[in-house]
Amino acid sequence: MPTLETRKRDKHFGQWFRQILIGAEILDYRYPIKGSGVWLPYGHKIRRHVIQLLRDLHDTTGHYEVQFPIMVTETNLRKEATHVKDFENEVFWITHGGLKPLKIKYALRPTSETAIYPMLKLWIRSHADLPKKLYQIGSVFRCETKTTRPIIRVREVTTFKEAHTSHATLHETEGQIQEAIQIYRNFFDSCSLPYLISRRPNWDKFPGALYSISFDVIMPDGRTLQIGTIHNLGQNFSKAFDIQYETLKGSHEYIWQTCYGISERGIGALLSIHGDDNGIVLVPSLAPIQIVVIPILHKEDQSQIIEESDRVAEKLVNSGFRVEIDKREDLTPGAKFFYWDLRGVPIRLEIGPKDLQKDQVIIVRRDTLKKEACKTKTLSSQLSKKLEQITIELREKAWKWMKSKIYRVNSLEEASKLMKKRAGVIELIWCGSDKCGHELEMRINASLLGIPADIKEMVKGKCIICNRKAAKIVRMAIAY
Ligand code: ZN
Repeated sequence: MPTLETRKRDKHFGQWFRQILIGAEILDYRYPIKGSGVWLPYGHKIRRHVIQLLRDLHDTTGHYEVQFPIMVTETNLRKEATHVKDFENEVFWITHGGLKPLKIKYALRPTSETAIYPMLKLWIRSHADLPKKLYQIGSVFRCETKTTRPIIRVREVTTFKEAHTSHATLHETEGQIQEAIQIYRNFFDSCSLPYLISRRPNWDKFPGALYSISFDVIMPDGRTLQIGTIHNLGQNFSKAFDIQYETLKGSHEYIWQTCYGISERGIGALLSIHGDDNGIVLVPSLAPIQIVVIPILHKEDQSQIIEESDRVAEKLVNSGFRVEIDKREDLTPGAKFFYWDLRGVPIRLEIGPKDLQKDQVIIVRRDTLKKEACKTKTLSSQLSKKLEQITIELREKAWKWMKSKIYRVNSLEEASKLMKKRAGVIELIWCGSDKCGHELEMRINASLLGIPADIKEMVKGKCIICNRKAAKIVRMAIAY
């Protein structure tokens, strides 16, 4: 029976996170390659639900799933100059086939633009081929030199959903960016996760993009985690890869492109933000097991209680719930509660001798740990309501928590103080110049997340650095 040595999520977040990954059998990061881990059966099921959610959201909005090779030729990787410059230091190279050196090296894709776009050149001929919206889910590789952290900073990102869209005009890409933002909002809403949407500063945009929009979340330790990115690529890549289409009038134009990605960091956020000192807390729609039935066994009545528990579990399975019954004889009820709490099963049902007499079961919610009795007759409908309630309340609680971690500040001293404490996100007035932006990052010792893309607010004030009139709010944080 695994135990949680450090149960304080907020105080020792890093340790807590590593513990729950192994304790709840989600991911084993003791694989002998730095920054790589093994998805365990329970974690893999969570991952499958998350992937399915992403698939559904893309399939229903006109995206088509494809699967590209993991290897990219060096020639193609180097085609877009700014792109390769940024990734070059992090690329894993394949240099040999057997014992012979390869004539052209292959890179393990750090992201897939340079794998996908040479093929788009073959597929896109005329305006009738546009728009084209493709996505794939697979691994990408980065030779991270910073300290790796399971799920959060890894060398093999095992669950990378990337979408790549091609359009006839810049105007259409703007529309696509809005659609992508909405898809990601829907995704994180379904995960009951809160988020901040910011337009990244120029120096932090995706290499080769006109601009980048990011989704960030505040983690329990006060640092922010980038959990989704959306980029308008303009024509930078289509020019590098010579992807042209024939217009209605018969002329030839370069296509306009966007791309956007979400990785397993979303799962990391899911586990961390809803979790507590007892383990993870899963959103019912993503939970491998939604309800666990635990017969409370005493010396007498054992067979009756087991029979009743089986009956209840079977009925719930037939009603469409994902149910498990824990009949292990070598564990006390307390040990079983610990076990399932750690794994974040949204609802636990306890059935003991008294409940049998009263024709009831005890419902315990994982998120609140509150208990209440429920008549067996109305159990199915009660549980549907409860699961719905859990989803809504997890979302409300997470949003409320995140909002409490955002501070408006008017001075550099205040900003530094909050960042030193890792208090969360600070918002301050900035003139928008790169120079002041860099100075802000240096003086406050934090990263500039960017200008809010999720709130429309006109402010009147002065840039906290240069004192010039400014109307922009900017977000800053200690970022992962
Ligand atoms: Zn300024």
